[in-house]
Amino acid sequence: MSLSPQALIHTDNIVANWRTIGALVPGARPGAVVKANAYGHGVGPVALALHEAGCRTFFVAYVEEGAELRDIVGPDAIIMAFNGAEPEDAELVRASKITPVINALPALKGWLGLSDTPEYAVHIDTGMNRLGVRLEDLAALKSLTAANPPVHIMSHLVDSDDRSRAINTQQLERFTEAASGFPEAQKSFANTGGCFMGATYGFDVVRPGIGLYGGGPPTPEGVTLKPGMTLEAPILTVQAVQPSETVGYGATYQVETPRMLATVALGYGDGFPRSASNKGVASLGGIHCPIVGRVSMDLITIDVTQAQDLAMPGAFAQFIGAEVLLEEQAARAGTVGYELVTGLGHRVRRIYD
Ligand SMILES: *Cc1c(COP(=O)(O)O)cnc(C)c1O
Repeated sequence: MSLSPQALIHTDNIVANWRTIGALVPGARPGAVVKANAYGHGVGPVALALHEAGCRTFFVAYVEEGAELRDIVGPDAIIMAFNGAEPEDAELVRASKITPVINALPALKGWLGLSDTPEYAVHIDTGMNRLGVRLEDLAALKSLTAANPPVHIMSHLVDSDDRSRAINTQQLERFTEAASGFPEAQKSFANTGGCFMGATYGFDVVRPGIGLYGGGPPTPEGVTLKPGMTLEAPILTVQAVQPSETVGYGATYQVETPRMLATVALGYGDGFPRSASNKGVASLGGIHCPIVGRVSMDLITIDVTQAQDLAMPGAFAQFIGAEVLLEEQAARAGTVGYELVTGLGHRVRRIYD
């Protein structure tokens, strides 16, 4: 049991990050994005902790995620579902009091065609060209919704990872203009990166996700976020290997000088990416131990030569956490923090502090 990977979930850190991010956008209410099982951290404990801290606006992708969340947080929170709803979902939407985000005019016509249409939000596309009513359709949107207007208007930033990009201010202008046509609706615009761009991006409510979990773009000067989880894997074996020996499938790593290697219980079967082969690191007591050879389904081998005192069967090596920052580990594997944390599977035991 203890010889399997575990993720210590730091709900206190997640709440602290929520407060830190909220303070960057004074005037806006801080919401929380808890889609995809709270980015892999476990929606139950995460949403409960945030609710207890005062969060009353939550965002998920699917109506079904919203229904699950409603049972967790109780009746007094707004829950919005980004991916929208079909008329067939109306019963679930009503029962769980979800606010679906309607993302296109045809879907809106379907939604407004219901008798007794439940409250809804509208996504306006200001540059992503992914979801949302297009700017050229704004007049049509207004006349369609005149009798039953949306309670919330939102848009989403294309490149909030890079605060210097002109697209951000262009989108801000487009959204400000478009949203002014819906004076009664609440407005939201900023994901984590948007919150890092300051108060003008805040509107009524903000939608931070990845930053709550300690990832996302570089934080503004003087702001630090804490890790949402510590991912650890137990050492199964430690062995000395000699020059010319190779490690793992495909013999992709060849030992050049005598090394101490440890093999840990974690692999791509747990959602840890195979692309971290020969690139990622683990930490033993703060000492970075490189991943050597391929990440396999259930095992990873690390070079513990520099941390031999700590490398013993049963000890845990850290793969994400205070010693191995989420975004740095993700970058080594050629991906982003979002994919790394949402990809972690069921075999990773979540332990809540
Ligand atoms: C996922 C999502 C967010 C949260 O984005 P982060 O970059 O994780 O903060 C906000 N808004 C929308 C529409 C999203 O899909």
